[in-house]
Amino acid sequence: MDAWFGIDIGGTSVKTALVDNVGHILVSQSFDTGAERDAETVAVRIKDTLELLKARLKDGGSTCQVHGAGVGIPGFLDLDTGIVAEAVNLGWTDVPFQSMLEQLLQLPVAMENDANLAALGEAFAGAGADRRVVLCATVGTGIGGGIVIDGRLHRGVNGMAGEIGHLVVKRDGGILCNCGHHGCLETVASATAIVRQAQALQSAGKLPADKVVTEAKDVFDLAERGNEAALSVITDAANWLGYGLSLAAITLNPDVIVIGGGVSRAEERFLMPMQAAFEQYALERVAQAAEVRAATLSNDAGVIGAARLAQQRVSSNA
Ligand SMILES: [Zn+2]
Repeated sequence: MDAWFGIDIGGTSVKTALVDNVGHILVSQSFDTGAERDAETVAVRIKDTLELLKARLKDGGSTCQVHGAGVGIPGFLDLDTGIVAEAVNLGWTDVPFQSMLEQLLQLPVAMENDANLAALGEAFAGAGADRRVVLCATVGTGIGGGIVIDGRLHRGVNGMAGEIGHLVVKRDGGILCNCGHHGCLETVASATAIVRQAQALQSAGKLPADKVVTEAKDVFDLAERGNEAALSVITDAANWLGYGLSLAAITLNPDVIVIGGGVSRAEERFLMPMQAAFEQYALERVAQAAEVRAATLSNDAGVIGAARLAQQRVSSNA
């Protein structure tokens, strides 16, 4: 059986999987990046994990031929040289990670930004599988974005296409974003933004103080209990996201917008107000063409997208 090795490196853990030609996970394994997350250590653990995955498949009675690997990395990458220019969460600067992995794995390795691979995964085997122009937004600590057109990632000239989290939606009085600009979409519509707004209300005595808000789920729980202030924080973030997506959609004219991250599970409280805002700001024909869907691959989108990228690089007809 043909298989592709998908790797999704995050700030706290590395997810890996062997994936077949149609995007099904055959076997998977994660490990913590731990305090020692230098690139060499991570690369060696990835190699060990590949051996483990192959052994597990064999124990289960199947054999596979692994043809290539794809790796998603949260950071800025130079894809011409295979160098991770900067991955803040990992503390990596100018790391030649692609060649490092190729030597260890003895496989062709394709490297890509993690948000792009999540989009490719959803477009290949998830919520966008039956659509042509897929715009993906993953709402978490920040807002990751990716664009897939006719099955291929649209990267732009240096990999920055689809960075919708950094659309400046609040030109005046916006707060500082990690990118150095003020008022980016992710400063008002990410899970982090929801938590920050709720914490401010809590400090001002406008939210119950029995449980300190530390994650977006706390705010959703309060809204579920009927707390109006918590609900308005969520609705506000949803409105901003709908507005930001309308700008992206007018540029791209997608036939599906896939929303990932924890908020995507909140159909009524988040996705519905988001869609209403989207329809308010997008051109009517743009809004009519673009169906909003929740992501379906959850945490597997990254490894499936990574495996798919490897497959596209190695097989000319994939
Ligand atoms: Zn920004």
